[in-house]
Amino acid sequence: MSSHQDSLEWARAQDAADPLAHLRREFLFPERTPLYFAGHSLGLQPRRARESVLEELDDWARLGVEGHFSARHPWFSHHEELTASTARLVGARPHEVVVMNTLTVNLHLLMVSFYRPRRGKHRLLIEAGAFPSDRYAVASQARFHGFAPEDTIVEADDPLRALQERGKEFALALIGNVNYLSGRAVDMPALVKAAHERDCLIGFDLAHGAGNLLLDLHETGADFAAWCNYKYLNAGPGGLGGVFIHERHANADLPRFEGWWGHDKARRFEMDPRFRPIRGAEGWQLSNPPILAMAALRASMELFDQATMPALRRKGEALSGYLQGLLEGVGIEVLTPPQRGSMLTVRLHDATKLVEALRARGAVCDLRPPDIVRLTPAPLYNSFEDVQRLGALLRELHG
Ligand SMILES: *Cc1c(COP(=O)(O)O)cnc(C)c1O
Repeated sequence: MSSHQDSLEWARAQDAADPLAHLRREFLFPERTPLYFAGHSLGLQPRRARESVLEELDDWARLGVEGHFSARHPWFSHHEELTASTARLVGARPHEVVVMNTLTVNLHLLMVSFYRPRRGKHRLLIEAGAFPSDRYAVASQARFHGFAPEDTIVEADDPLRALQERGKEFALALIGNVNYLSGRAVDMPALVKAAHERDCLIGFDLAHGAGNLLLDLHETGADFAAWCNYKYLNAGPGGLGGVFIHERHANADLPRFEGWWGHDKARRFEMDPRFRPIRGAEGWQLSNPPILAMAALRASMELFDQATMPALRRKGEALSGYLQGLLEGVGIEVLTPPQRGSMLTVRLHDATKLVEALRARGAVCDLRPPDIVRLTPAPLYNSFEDVQRLGALLRELHG
């Protein structure tokens, strides 16, 4: 990096030329930590989320039960208002996606359908260093089917090679498309191909991929995917998750846990005792969804539609590249390989002290003790100036 790129003037010139720069004003930045680099953990609040949630509270007050059909965003079909933007976000067909529940819950529901172990083909592949909740989920699924997790769950450093070498043993591969800790992105098409050639189903955890990377789930051919919407997607703490189920499974007679919200919409209120699933991902819904949480997510998805993923990815790459240059300029090694999203992971001998010092100076990132720090410039609301200011703080504080 040339020294002039290290200047506030250079960073401000980049912001002036950035077609997405205005979106920053759509977000609320924390008072004490306005230099926000934790979007991989909890995205910032879109200003319009408040109005969107208040609208639902008002309609509930005004209409009571009639709000199911007469609210401004009728509750009966509220989740459908998120379908088009969610499908665009992950590169799916509309009937392949639904917003429901939360991530770990959805992983379990999807494994009910897609993890069907049998003798000789019972193993479940995950990536080494998977997020703990995913490990708990797969281990408990193995036990639920009567298999010992130690003999069932395979944690591979290189999931592609594991599939190529022993794919026939696996009933399912569940892979994070961007690892939560290293930030490394996987080659999804290659994994899907290797899995399917060996009669192994494959799903992706997109917690760190949705709203971050350009995704093309339908074309990729993954059997399913699930993600949370509160990290890159700014749905708010505990926000609703997203689910993708490839259309080849839309009509399949898969085992699933059933509830009335997955039942044929035209006949839902006929209270028919026999379950007739909605075709596609919506058929996996169980309950009528939390409207307030959905209203907050809607506010954020409008901004993704405005920005578009290709433009966000371009800016994300530029911001992360800029941050990497600044980090290396002060002697901080970036562990995240070039195949990645916006998040950069670094190892620091003085991580705990440094993260505290940064917070005291208004910059927030996150610490995985003892020495790993994750930093994410989120292209929807972070600026080049943010990154430059973070770089300047690191130059001053890192010793
Ligand atoms: C953030 C994250 C989760 C969180 O799970 P919840 O069910 O939303 O609490 C799970 N898995 C991965 C990979 C994550 O990054």
